[in-house]
Amino acid sequence: MRDYRLIVNGELVESVSGNRFNVINPATSEVIGSVPDGVPEDAVSALQAAERAFPGWAALPPTVRADYMHKSAELIRARKRDIAVTLTMEQGKPLRDAEKEVQDAAAAIDFFADEGIRIRGEVIPTGVTSALSIVVKQPIGVCVAITPWNYPVSLLAWKVGPALAAGCSIVAKPASETPLSSIEFVRCFLDAGVPKGVINIVTGSGGKIGRELVQNPITKKVALTGSTLVGKCVASLAGEHLKKVSLELGGHSPFIVFGDADLKSAVAEGVRRSFRNMGQICNAVNRILVHESIADEFIDMFVEGTKNMTIGNGLNNPDVDLGPMVNEEGIKRTMTHIQDALDRGARLLCGGRKPAGKEFERGFFLKPAVLVDVPRDSIIMQEETFGPAVAIVKFESLDEAIHLANATQYGLVAYAYTQDIETIITLVNMLDFGTVCINNTVAASVQAPYGGWKESGVGVELSHHAMDEYLHIKHVRIQG
Ligand code: NAD
Repeated sequence: MRDYRLIVNGELVESVSGNRFNVINPATSEVIGSVPDGVPEDAVSALQAAERAFPGWAALPPTVRADYMHKSAELIRARKRDIAVTLTMEQGKPLRDAEKEVQDAAAAIDFFADEGIRIRGEVIPTGVTSALSIVVKQPIGVCVAITPWNYPVSLLAWKVGPALAAGCSIVAKPASETPLSSIEFVRCFLDAGVPKGVINIVTGSGGKIGRELVQNPITKKVALTGSTLVGKCVASLAGEHLKKVSLELGGHSPFIVFGDADLKSAVAEGVRRSFRNMGQICNAVNRILVHESIADEFIDMFVEGTKNMTIGNGLNNPDVDLGPMVNEEGIKRTMTHIQDALDRGARLLCGGRKPAGKEFERGFFLKPAVLVDVPRDSIIMQEETFGPAVAIVKFESLDEAIHLANATQYGLVAYAYTQDIETIITLVNMLDFGTVCINNTVAASVQAPYGGWKESGVGVELSHHAMDEYLHIKHVRIQG
């Protein structure tokens, strides 16, 4: 049993409520630990600690902040195995994937430590020789990071990195399914000597403690990764005080395969992007649009690739492709999407049921599902499944593919496979998505901006662009 505490003002503390809630291993349904069930008073204490710490942290030379951050990243790497084991036990992803997530989180902290040193202003010609216009960038103040359960460590790093590098202090609130690895991650900053109050973490229900963190006047910026529904709620709460927000929300990624595509690579990458982390990724493929000329061959290869994926408890078998889903609710939602498509005339070519065997009995396991002949008004063609099910539909022309791809409220990531340069240029110009991947599926890398269009979000994470989400711009006009 792992019993964790809140981290407020550099101290490990219980909630004033005195209550705790359990964390479950989705592979076995066993309780693996507990955390304090925080209440709004805990959120206020954490915000006040961050408010006290802010001026001192902001006043440090960026190189000194970078030193603290690099030291924290080193500790994250040193504890990689331990944090990854916790992550696998609470989230379900195989240990190999969990280790990669922790490694990537440390790399993000290193990247942003150095971006903090490179914050630059501007000198702007004013049109008169006696005056100078200068633009300076300053940290925005106390920030709040609210994270989901699918990538609890890396998505926290994507917020803590630019916030601390910019000179902001921060209060984190992880999802209630996966708070343990986030607390272990924050602990590394504490142990690296980051001054008390600069980084805090509180646990508890989003509707109570999350709401307080967003609404409290101490908070100057909110960074949320979560569902579009919660994103809209957070945006309207933050709007009451016109706080800055960045929102990384839901997606419904199309994967377009043209007649001239390298089929082997399209199938291998398509299978991985559809089902990795059990499809519980904002940029998971939900719909595959395949040109009719190669559809039959593609579908055969895709189904074979899907059936070859291994599934199991990723703690005992670190190299399996897939673990369990995070909870029963995910299985129910995925099965609803599958059943709705079947009711409308689609065919299920594989998966969509629990794997047989004793080891799967108590966990939230589901075999990855491939649907074909899916009517375009099916739920799976419109709503984020966030589970291991993908719909394959055929198209006849480039225009039809683009129209189908864009026919969604979401605009996070689109993928396409083709060798034709004119098709590529048209896709780049016409796809309404924040990220477009051609002949690859690497949607998020620390050097490049990642953000959603339409109802997939506001603002960006990663890259030097993310720094601006944590900085105020100030224009200084000096008259000689
Ligand atoms: P969720 O929206 O249910 O919860 C996200 C976080 O918000 C949790 O910490 C939750 O406690 C908190 N929260 C809930 N209600 C709140 C409120 N009223 N005020 C403040 N905080 C509140 O999402 P989830 O189920 O944890 O994660 C899955 C969702 O996240 C999917 O929709 C997925 O697409 C999205 N996601 C997006 C990205 C991206 O980069 N765009 C990445 C990963 C996940």
